Amino acid sequence: MTIRVACIGGGPGGLFFTALLKQRMPEADVVLFERNQASDAFGFGVVFSDATLRRINEADPVLRDGLKNFGKHWDSIEVWLKDDRRSFGGNGMAAIHRKTILRLLQERAAQVGVDMRFGQVAPRLDELGEYDLIVGADGANSLTREQLGEALGHTAETATAKFIWFGTTNLFNGLTFIHRRSEHGNFAAHAYPISDELSTFIVETDQETWRKAGLDEFDVSQPPGPSDAKTQRYLEKLFAEDIEGQPLVANNSRWANFRTRQTKTWHCGNVALLGDAVHTAHFSVGSGTKMAMEDAVVLAREVAAHAGNLELALTNYEAERQPEVAKIQNSARPSLSWWEHFSRYYQAFEPLQFTFHFFSRSIDIEKIRQRDPELVDAAEKEWKEIHGADPLNTPLQAGPVSFDGRLLRLTTSQGTPVLVAGAQELPLTEVPEEASGSTGLLITAPDTEDGLDAVLENLSGTPAFVVIAGGNPFTRSLLSEEARLARGLTSIMVNDDPDTAPAVTLILSGRADAVAINEAPAFHSDKAFDA
Ligand SMILES: Cc1cc2nc3c(=O)[nH]c(=O)nc-3n(C[C@H](O)[C@H](O)[C@H](O)COP(=O)(O)OP(=O)(O)OC[C@H]3O[C@@H](n4cnc5c(N)ncnc54)[C@H](O)[C@@H]3O)c2cc1C
Repeated sequence: MTIRVACIGGGPGGLFFTALLKQRMPEADVVLFERNQASDAFGFGVVFSDATLRRINEADPVLRDGLKNFGKHWDSIEVWLKDDRRSFGGNGMAAIHRKTILRLLQERAAQVGVDMRFGQVAPRLDELGEYDLIVGADGANSLTREQLGEALGHTAETATAKFIWFGTTNLFNGLTFIHRRSEHGNFAAHAYPISDELSTFIVETDQETWRKAGLDEFDVSQPPGPSDAKTQRYLEKLFAEDIEGQPLVANNSRWANFRTRQTKTWHCGNVALLGDAVHTAHFSVGSGTKMAMEDAVVLAREVAAHAGNLELALTNYEAERQPEVAKIQNSARPSLSWWEHFSRYYQAFEPLQFTFHFFSRSIDIEKIRQRDPELVDAAEKEWKEIHGADPLNTPLQAGPVSFDGRLLRLTTSQGTPVLVAGAQELPLTEVPEEASGSTGLLITAPDTEDGLDAVLENLSGTPAFVVIAGGNPFTRSLLSEEARLARGLTSIMVNDDPDTAPAVTLILSGRADAVAINEAPAFHSDKAFDA
C-alpha cells in the first residue's frame, strides 16, 4: 500500500529515517521539511564508538562509508593534566564533521526520491492533515513535541556545568581530554579530529568559574549566528599550549547548560517523535547521533512492515527503542556527573589516579585491563609505591580504629549493623550524634541524585568513619566522594558484589577508602557495575 509521510527536521535522525523508509517503500510519498539550508550545519564533529554501529551499518552503509572516506579513526583516548599525558587504548572510535555526515545523508535521501524542502519551517501539525504519518525529528527544542502537549510526559533536567562548542585548526590524534586551571578555576576540553583541517573543541567549566572569569556577558538570547568572542579569546589563551598556538574556530558558539531529556510516550495518534526530540544523553558518551539514527532504523522498519496499521508500527517502535535508549541514558548519568565534579578530582588526585578515576566511571578494573593492561599496571604500581601494598591489603587508620586491610564486611547482629574487619566487630550507628570515638556512622544513600542533599545533612559530626550503604552504586559513590574528598572523612562503601574487582576499582580510583561486602539483607542494593 502507499502512504504519505511528512518528516519535520533534516538532522541525522530525520534524513536517515526518510531515506530508509523510501528504500523500503519506494511507492511511499515522503516529504522532509528542514528550516535551514542544505549546506547549513551548526556545531562541528560527531564521534562514534566502533562497537556500537552494527545496527546502523546493517540498515545502510552510508555512515560506515562516510567514516571510512572522510572521517578520522583512532584507538586511544588521552587525558592531559598537570603536564602529564596518559593514554587508554582499546577504544576504537571515529569522528566525522557534522556537515559531511549531513551531506552524505542528504545525498542518500535524494537518490531514493525523498522530497526534501530546505529553508522551509514545517507547517503546524493541524496543517499537515493530508499525511498518514508525521515524524517529529526536529531536535532538542522540538516544536512538534510542544504541540503534542504534556500527555507525552516529557522532562528536561539541566546540568549545572556550562559547555561551549568550538573547533580548532590544531589536529589532535584522537579523543583528548585536556584539563587546565586558570586563576578563576578549572576548565576541561573534549577535543578530537573530524577532518584533515579541523578538530572539535568542546569546553566545560562550573558556573562559579564561568562567572568569576567574566564569561557570562554574552547575550545568549539573541538569534543564532553570533559567537561569544570574549570566551573564544580567553580559551585560546588558556589552552594555547594544547592547541599549539592555533586559533579556535567559532560557529554559533555560546555557553549553554546540557539538558538531559526523557519522554514517556514517543507517539500520539499518527505523530511519532525520534532522536533529540524525545531523548538526549550527555555528549561525553557520544551517543546522540547514534541514538537518533537507530530510532530511524527501527521506525522505518516498523512503518514499512505495518503500513496498514500505523498504531501497531509506532507501538512496536517505542517498545523496542525505549529500553535501549534508557540504558544509554543510565550510563550517561554518571558520566555527566563526573563532568560536574572534575574540578574536585583535579584538586584531589595526581594525574594517574585522576585518569583511572575517569575511565572507571562505569567499568571496573578488569574491563579496563582487557583494553589497556599498561594503564592498569601503572595505576597499581603507583599505589604500591605510595602505600607499600596492593589496594585491598593496604592498612587503613580511621580515627582510633585500625584496619589491616580494606576489604571488610557489613552484617547485622541482633538488628544492629556491624562492620566486620578481621577479628574486629564494630557496631555502627545511624544517628550522627552517636557516631564518635570508634563508632562509625552508617548512611543510607538515596535512590536518585535528588535525595542527596537530605542525606548530606546527616553527614555531620566527627565520626571515626562513615559506611555508605543502600541507594545504588552511583549515589553511593557521590556520597562517598563528598565524605572523603570534601569533608576529609574516612569513607567505606558497601558493595553487594562479593567479587573483588569492583572493590579494587573503588579504592584505586579514590572513590572510597575501603569497601565492605554486604552480608546484611536489609542493606542490599544494586550491583556495583553493570557495564
Ligand atoms: C556539544 C555537543 C556535542 C555533541 N557531540 C556528539 C557526538 O560526539 N556524538 C553524537 O552522536 N552526538 C553528539 N551530540 C548530539 C547530537 O548533535 C544530536 O544528538 C543529534 O544531532 C540528534 O539528531 P536529531 O536528528 O534528532 O536532531 P538534530 O540534529 O537537532 O536535527 C533537528 C533538525 O530539525 C530542524 N528543525 C527544527 N525545527 C524545525 C521546524 N519547525 N521545521 C523544520 N525544521 C526544523 C533543525 O534545523 C535541525 O536541522 C552532541 C551534542 C552537543 C550539544
